[in-house]
Amino acid sequence: MNSPHNTPIQAKLMPNFSLKDRNTFGLDAIAQIAFEITEPSQIPAVMSSILEKNLPWRVLGGGSNVILPKVLPGATLLINITGSEVIAADESFTKISVGAGVNWHEFVAWTLENGFFGLENLALIPGTVGAAPIQNIGAYGVELADYIDSVEAFDVKANAFVTLPKAACHFAYRDSYFKQNSQRFIVTKVVFSMPKAWQARMHYADLAKQFANNTNTTPEEIFLAVCKIRTHKLPDPKVIGNAGSFFQNPVVANEQYETLLKKYANLVSYPDAPGKRKLAAGWLIDQCGFKGLRMGEVGVYENQALVLVNHGNGTAQDILGLAKCIQDKVRKEFGVSLEIEPTIL
Ligand SMILES: Cc1cc2nc3c(=O)[nH]c(=O)nc-3n(C[C@H](O)[C@H](O)[C@H](O)COP(=O)(O)OP(=O)(O)OC[C@H]3O[C@@H](n4cnc5c(N)ncnc54)[C@H](O)[C@@H]3O)c2cc1C
Repeated sequence: MNSPHNTPIQAKLMPNFSLKDRNTFGLDAIAQIAFEITEPSQIPAVMSSILEKNLPWRVLGGGSNVILPKVLPGATLLINITGSEVIAADESFTKISVGAGVNWHEFVAWTLENGFFGLENLALIPGTVGAAPIQNIGAYGVELADYIDSVEAFDVKANAFVTLPKAACHFAYRDSYFKQNSQRFIVTKVVFSMPKAWQARMHYADLAKQFANNTNTTPEEIFLAVCKIRTHKLPDPKVIGNAGSFFQNPVVANEQYETLLKKYANLVSYPDAPGKRKLAAGWLIDQCGFKGLRMGEVGVYENQALVLVNHGNGTAQDILGLAKCIQDKVRKEFGVSLEIEPTIL
């Protein structure tokens, strides 16, 4: 929304702004200066004032994939750009443009209500639409990249708004061009390309089991099933602080996989690129005896070893300390390195 004279409303500046309610780990964190961005046009002025003063800066969406220190120096941009609209359609696809600050799950629910199908497997992933391309969110056999047309962003390096078509986003497993260039792009809008033909994707074990005898599954049924499975498996951040999967599933060469399989007959793994195999990080951590373990104020979730939790007063240091213990033990036992998934800010 613009002011009556058509100059953009200035971004709201909030000094010493608490982020405790804006990170799902529930970490006590203060942003020295927070800017609330409600429209893309506010970004150039905010960024030029930050760069002029040589301040450190970062972007925060819903805070569901970050580990925050006690104090975030410099500037933190809180992205609250809203709005979803159909911008084009033909007989095969509908293009939908969505503000970066829109809640991801609410957007997925909106697509189903409006007859755009495909994102149902990604229901209940916390966070914002603008953060979804950063790590190319994925769940139950579907990833964001499957439905992306383009991403609109402010390119800090070029000091200009840009539109990156899907091919330029370099999407990969929990990775993208944006993640590789973290101090460069501020995502303002994501444009989705939703195919009019729909096909259920239920090859992941939990879904396949649920729909084994049902050949006429609807997108709504999958949406509800995914919500039910996730609610059962993952801790609710409102109840116990967490950032979902804490480690990425490591990808190893087939030779290493075969060697491990000889030693561990029940090794859990998934197909990956030719010559490679993806190992279930949760299984590796579980085998090392970490599931349910508590280390002071932090721990490993009792129902899912891939999730680290904050029991109340944990700090970033506590979480990273526990993560290091896990990484060391898994490397010693299996010869496999675990990469931390959330961004350490
Ligand atoms: C219980 C739980 C379950 C989860 N399950 C899944 C899952 O199944 N699959 C999955 O992929 N992820 C999952 N996650 C992780 C998380 O939900 C996603 O990564 C989500 O996209 C993060 O969104 P956010 O808005 O909270 O981002 P934030 O945590 O705020 O930010 C994450 C990163 O993106 C950057 N960023 C955020 N917004 C922007 C923007 N507009 N422009 C540029 N950079 C930006 C931040 O700087 C940071 O580096 C889960 C998390 C939780 C807590």
